[in-house]
Amino acid sequence: MKFKLPAGTQVIELKGYTLLPGLIEGHSHLFLHPYNETSWDNQVLKESRAERTARATEHARATLMAGFTTVRDLGTEGSMYDDVGLKTAIQKGVVPGPRMICATRAIVARGAYGPRPESSDLSLPQGAAEVGNSDEMTNEVRTQISKGADVIKIYADYRTGSGHEPTATFSIEEIAAAVKIANSGGREVVCHATTAEGMRRAILAGASTIEHGDHGTEEVFKLMKEKSVAFCPTLAAINAYEQYNGWKKGIDPEPKTVTDKRNSFQLALKVGVIICMGGDVGVFTHGDNAREMEMMVEYGMKPIDVLRSSTSINADAFGYGDKIGRIKKDLYADIIAVEGDPSSDIKNVRKTKFVMKDGVPYKQ
Ligand SMILES: [Zn+2]
Repeated sequence: MKFKLPAGTQVIELKGYTLLPGLIEGHSHLFLHPYNETSWDNQVLKESRAERTARATEHARATLMAGFTTVRDLGTEGSMYDDVGLKTAIQKGVVPGPRMICATRAIVARGAYGPRPESSDLSLPQGAAEVGNSDEMTNEVRTQISKGADVIKIYADYRTGSGHEPTATFSIEEIAAAVKIANSGGREVVCHATTAEGMRRAILAGASTIEHGDHGTEEVFKLMKEKSVAFCPTLAAINAYEQYNGWKKGIDPEPKTVTDKRNSFQLALKVGVIICMGGDVGVFTHGDNAREMEMMVEYGMKPIDVLRSSTSINADAFGYGDKIGRIKKDLYADIIAVEGDPSSDIKNVRKTKFVMKDGVPYKQ
């Protein structure tokens, strides 16, 4: 088809490169940095919010330059609503960064998060918003929406008290109370869940995506498929954690947590669950988001399917399919170009030569 370019149109030649829709990071924490630099507890308790925002600004730049033009940022972990402030600064062009889908504070059951004091006589500032019943849940969701939350993140399970094994922390009714308010305001509820029971409750309550899913069973993945709930596996995070704890990948035997993760991911693939791409980046270095994509291929997904998960599938699962995730008329011009063909070797997504967000080139 021939069409006339308007006068003054800039032509960008990208011969030999592969053009892709801007990549979408499905699970980031721009307000965290790798735990082998500073532990999560010390980031939450000892870094000022000014420092954390300065770091997040740099993380946002690195993310965009790596070709990730959108992030779903799932909780500031103690930095309150500062993600909304960063998003505003990016939108105003003050600093470069991706489009942000902000969760503000994650919501947790009272007493079921961290940092944890060593003595029961102490209470410490928490990395998320605590609620104790359905009314408090409803109020918290309304507050977060008023502060700018685009998505609501709930911890459906976690370690509580002196126990080390995670258990479900909210009833189906409590999560459903959040879903009702969030959905009526056009927002999704997404749930952290690593246990089968936490996942089951989140799915039945109306969550849109399940984050982590380490111990998902065939039954629970079938339920996700039936209800079109997407799975965001965060494979790279558990690998990073274990390496920070001393695991020498490729030398030491694989830790059980890593094996469990691979098994749950492969089970979800076999059942045919919608798979998102999200690495829980922040646990590892921002800008290194492709690590998750490489692991998805390593664990058996085709590169082309990983590219779909990182673009159109993420966009659809997050409710943004009419705005991002495809190169298509009427969508935002979020376009990247990489050297080589990432559908034959996923590592090529790292060779980002060109990044455009909303029609503006940031890297060329
Ligand atoms: Zn996370």
